[in-house]
Amino acid sequence: MKKILCLLVCLFAVCSCSGGNGLYTETRVIMGTYVTITLNRSGKTNDELVKASADAFARITKVDDLMSTYKPMSNLSRINANSGIAPFPADPEVIENIQDASYVSRLTGGAFDITVGPLVKAWEIGSKGAHVPSPGTIKKALALVGWRNIVVDKKAGTVFLTKRGASIDLGAIAKGYASDRAAVALLEDGIKGGIVACAGDIKTFGVKPDGSAWTVGIQNPRGPEGDVIAKLPLTDTAISTSGDYERFFIKDGKHYCHIMDPHTGYPASGLMSVTVLAKDSWLADSMGTALFVLGPKKAYALALKHPELEVLMITDSGKVLATGRFRGMKIAPPAGAG
Ligand code: ADP
Ligand code: MG
Repeated sequence: MKKILCLLVCLFAVCSCSGGNGLYTETRVIMGTYVTITLNRSGKTNDELVKASADAFARITKVDDLMSTYKPMSNLSRINANSGIAPFPADPEVIENIQDASYVSRLTGGAFDITVGPLVKAWEIGSKGAHVPSPGTIKKALALVGWRNIVVDKKAGTVFLTKRGASIDLGAIAKGYASDRAAVALLEDGIKGGIVACAGDIKTFGVKPDGSAWTVGIQNPRGPEGDVIAKLPLTDTAISTSGDYERFFIKDGKHYCHIMDPHTGYPASGLMSVTVLAKDSWLADSMGTALFVLGPKKAYALALKHPELEVLMITDSGKVLATGRFRGMKIAPPAGAG
């Protein structure tokens, strides 16, 4: 069972969640994490809000049922079990997610790679068994990694992993994708504004009951939970944070986090956290992970070339690198860094 993660980002709008403030809030545990939905009541009855929220949670559960590697009968587990054997007929949502992931892999020179499954398994970071694998084990796992080994046949509706033993892990994109799907479900139910937060993968839409934007805070990567380094108003925008501070282990004084560099087979290093703003949550989620892998220099250069992304990065030494609206913001360097 995947460890239940704490929220990476604090939602100030959620702090006072009684009906009196015009908000409806509900939290459930799905995808091994806390999922919080906050809605602008805007003239809706309680029954309508309960239904809309249930519809949105159902969309997230559907994504989990299709894409979890913890569920043996999920589409994704069946694709992985059939690696090197046969193409598997996959749900269109799984195909869409895999194709989105390939777009990000291409954009980032393979820093983002959903075929990291064997590496994730070898390191077991985030579970009790976390350890530094032997060089031989890393080499074997690396031989199975490569996003170009995924063959999607859109016409036939199948996904095939060409190498036996290869496996896809959508842990760095599926939560964002689920936030997007849930927000669409809420709009279809006539909700005027809200926030869907699958842990740190957050989609905002519309406005708060007073007509203003939602406020989202960014966690200090070296502070206690809830200690934020910046707050920003958001509407119709997704925000995602990837960090080294929630799932990691320390061995011989070295910090190993759960984000893998698909080129070396070792956990990525050089950054404490990467926050990405984008229109869609799947993109913010996957790019946060990808930039984390690229490290400060390459990530900053790439972010500058993509104005559709706005990026805030904190390096290992506590240096702040910012693009887009983060540039003009006063960001306090995290305590304990450097
Ligand atoms: P979180 O899971 O904490 O939200 P991320 O969005 O950064 O953080 O996703 C990290 C997860 O993605 C890892 O636990 C692993 O399952 C998977 N992963 C690790 N490295 C990569 C990578 N280079 N490319 C794609 N997925 C990765
Ligand atoms: Mg991610």
